[in-house]
Amino acid sequence: MSELTELYKEVILDHNKRPRNYQKLSDANRSAEGFNPLCGDQIQLYVKLEEGVIRDIGFQGSGCAISKASASLMTSLVKGKTSTDADELFERFHRLVTSEQSPDTAELGKLSVFSGVREFPARVKCASLAWHTLRAALEEKGVPVTTE
Ligand code: ZN
Repeated sequence: MSELTELYKEVILDHNKRPRNYQKLSDANRSAEGFNPLCGDQIQLYVKLEEGVIRDIGFQGSGCAISKASASLMTSLVKGKTSTDADELFERFHRLVTSEQSPDTAELGKLSVFSGVREFPARVKCASLAWHTLRAALEEKGVPVTTE
């Protein structure tokens, strides 16, 4: 295993153990639920959106280390960003975990820790769940999202 992979693993384990923004927001004006039945991951996302900016964001849920770490990283990355910027990050993340080409990891920053999941299609759903749920919350979809 390469050193880089070891580092990525550490980041994921750290976020799993001490997830950032792991809380219910009492003043959230957007929320969404997400499920990944394949793995059993479940997430509830809370967003405080003001004038198109994600002022605050929190999540709760249960699932595997990858889904939790992804939600933790996602929430810390989009906090303070506009919903348009968050959408753009989602696109980049999606390309990272699905594309055959090597991603530009410099541009992706911390998100590049998930580049390793590309080799495991089932894990892509774990890593993408939080992002799909964020999109549902921002688009105010009334139904829970599922990766299936
Ligand atoms: Zn999972």
